[in-house]
Amino acid sequence: MGDENVKKEKILVTVRMRPLTQKELTKGDLNAWDFPDDTTLVSRNSNESFTFDKVFDSSCPTNMVYEQGVRDVALSVIKGINATIFAYGQTNSGKTYTMRGIAQNVIHDIYAHFQNAEESSYLLKFSALEIYCEKVMDLLNPNFENLRIFEDSENVTVVEKLTEEVVKDGQHLRSLIKTCEVGENSVNDQSSRSHQIIRLTIESSFRDDSGCLTSLSASLCLVDLAGSERASETKAVGATLNESRHINTSLLTLKTVIRLLSGGDGGKKKKKKEEEEEEEEEEEEENHIPYRDSKLTRILKPSLGE
Ligand code: ADP
Repeated sequence: MGDENVKKEKILVTVRMRPLTQKELTKGDLNAWDFPDDTTLVSRNSNESFTFDKVFDSSCPTNMVYEQGVRDVALSVIKGINATIFAYGQTNSGKTYTMRGIAQNVIHDIYAHFQNAEESSYLLKFSALEIYCEKVMDLLNPNFENLRIFEDSENVTVVEKLTEEVVKDGQHLRSLIKTCEVGENSVNDQSSRSHQIIRLTIESSFRDDSGCLTSLSASLCLVDLAGSERASETKAVGATLNESRHINTSLLTLKTVIRLLSGGDGGKKKKKKEEEEEEEEEEEEENHIPYRDSKLTRILKPSLGE
């Protein structure tokens, strides 16, 4: 990620439309979007047009979404490059469905790579957490429900006491992922109101052409974000208002971080001068990127832009 050109090319935004559900078809709902080509969406209501790196229509299977939109970024972890895949959208838009399919594809490809690279040695580690109202819970051990975050002596963000399992094989990895899905359900369908992060860390060592032993370590984060509509529930009260505020803060911070990483201004142009100056001071402290403004971006910092 150190190379400027590599960094610029490594942020991709794709859209996947899901088919209408039986319930929506029964109600007579219609698709609200047209696809003039595979990078453009046009709203049938407003006629506004939006451009993305790639648009997948509702007939597209998850395998194709993975192959054309995710694989290269996800498998960079094998080459020692950190990567993060986000699913962003409203509740019921298909984030979890897509991320589960993507996880299956990632597992398949990682193990295929291990098998084909017999001269190298690999260690795969798995951890998973949920962030709800700025509290971090270990999905492999739900008893740990408000984990502390701190920066170690090398300024790497650490989630204290987070369980990290060494993965034995593909079957073990699938069962670990399944455990996290059960965990989501056990907290009263909190999943649309929380962010879930699955982190796979690969440590590898191999001999290069000159016979030198090279070691690499990198993480891939698969992030299923809270439903984006939750961030705008500003008329909510009590606990729901509290949830919405936290979701709003983390999604806004994520947006700012991604914009700044991709060379944008993080939305600063729209702000008043004083706010801009204040923010500039804060950003100065944070090396210009406000990772520390939410637990989500703080935890993902090593996988986003370091
Ligand atoms: P979210 O995680 O965004 O709340 P889900 O992944 O739970 O949404 O998807 C909502 C519903 O739509 C689920 O019943 C899911 O099975 C279905 N669904 C989502 N995406 C697809 C798809 N591409 N093809 C078929 N069904 C889908």
